Amino acid sequence: ASTWANVPQGPPDAILGITEAFKADPNSEKINLGVGAYRDDKGKPYVLPSVLSAEKKIIEAKLNKEYAGITGVPEFTKAAALLAYGPNSAAIKEDRVAITQSISGTGALRIGGAFLERFYPGAKTIYIPNPSWANHSAVFKDSGLKVEQYSYYDEDTIGLDFDGMISDIKGMPEGSIILLHACAHNPTGVDPTQDQWRAISKAVKEGGHYPFFDMAYQGFASGDTDRDAFALRHFIEEGHTPCLAQSFAKNMGLYGERVGAFSLVTSTPEEKKKVDSQIKIIVRPLYSNPPIHGARIASEVLNNPALNKQWLGEVKGMADRIIEMRALLKKNLEDLGSKKQWNHITDQIGMFAYTGLTAEQMEKLAKDTSVYATKDGRISVAGITSGNVKRLAESIYKITG
Ligand code: PMP
Repeated sequence: ASTWANVPQGPPDAILGITEAFKADPNSEKINLGVGAYRDDKGKPYVLPSVLSAEKKIIEAKLNKEYAGITGVPEFTKAAALLAYGPNSAAIKEDRVAITQSISGTGALRIGGAFLERFYPGAKTIYIPNPSWANHSAVFKDSGLKVEQYSYYDEDTIGLDFDGMISDIKGMPEGSIILLHACAHNPTGVDPTQDQWRAISKAVKEGGHYPFFDMAYQGFASGDTDRDAFALRHFIEEGHTPCLAQSFAKNMGLYGERVGAFSLVTSTPEEKKKVDSQIKIIVRPLYSNPPIHGARIASEVLNNPALNKQWLGEVKGMADRIIEMRALLKKNLEDLGSKKQWNHITDQIGMFAYTGLTAEQMEKLAKDTSVYATKDGRISVAGITSGNVKRLAESIYKITG
C-alpha cells in the first residue's frame, strides 16, 4: 500500500468554503461578509497610501536582502513595542520588555504558546473566551498547551456575559493562563467597557493568573491606537507582566506580508535578557529568522513622523467607515420596520458583528438572498458598503422579521 494510504481527509476551512460558495453564485448582487479583511466603500481591498509611500521609499533605497537577526528588524520591533505599550510605558523605559518580530499575529501567538509551554511555572493550560478566534485553540494546542474556555458571550443580550466571565476567572485554578482579546473581539465584536476591564484586571490578579493579550486590531476598533491599547496598558499599570501578540495585518493592511511581534513584559532587564535568549532558541529551529520586507514597511510607517501621522489618519478612516456601516445597517433595518432590537450592531466594535442570527437563518441568508457569512451569525462589517447595505438589510429583514 502507499505510504500515505492512511492519511485521513481533513475538513475544509470554514471560511474557505464560504468564499467558494460565494464565487460559484451567479447572482450579480451577491454579498460576501465572510472574509476578515478590510474593504473600501467600493468593496475593494485597500492598500493604505501611507504604506505605499513607505514601500516606495524602501524600494528606492535599494537595501540589500541579507537576513535579519533571529528576532527580526530592530527598528520595527522597537516601534511596535512603543505603539502597543505607549510612549510613557515604564516597562519600556526600564528596558524590561522582551520582543521579537513574528509571522504576523498567528506566529506571535505560536511563539508565545511555545514559550509558555517551555517556561511557564504553573499549569500549562490556557483559557480562551467562548467563543474565540477560530484559530486560537489550534495554535495553542499545537504549541503543547491545554486549552479551556471561559464564558464571554451572552446569547440573550448579544453582548458580554460579564458576570459569567468574572465568575469563571475566579473559578480557574490559581495561576492559570488567560487569553484576552485586547480590543475588537473576534468573532463577536463585543468588548468589555473600560470599567469592566478594570474589574477583569482585578479578578485576574486576585487569582494569580497570567494574562496573554492578543492585539490583532490596534486602532481598528475605535480609530485611536492609544484607546484600543487601554486594556493592555491598564493591566501593566496594575502590576501584571503580560505577554502580547501583535499583528499589523489589519491596521496597516499588511495581511499577506505577515508582519507582527511577540513581546513579554518582565520584571528586570536581567530577566528580559534571559527571556530574549530563550525566544531566540524557540524561533531558530522554527524558521531561523523572519521576512524583512513587510517589517521594513511597518518600521518606516511607525518611525517616519509624517508617514506615522498620515497612517493614524488612515486607520481612523477605516475604523470610521466600519462604525458608519454599523449605523447604516441598523438604520436600514429599523426603517424597514424590523421588530427586532439591533442595538448590538452599533454597540459592538471592530471588523466583525455578531448578528444573533442562527445557523439555519445564515443558511437561508445565503440560499435565498446570496449573502454569505459564517454559520455562527458573524458578518464582516468591512464587507458592507453604502452600495450594498440596503439590500443587506432587506435580506436580513426577510429572514428575521
Ligand atoms: N488574533 C485574532 C483575534 C485575529 O482575528 C487574527 C486575524 N484574523 C489574528 C490573531 C492573526 O492574524 P494574522 O496572523 O493574519 O496577523
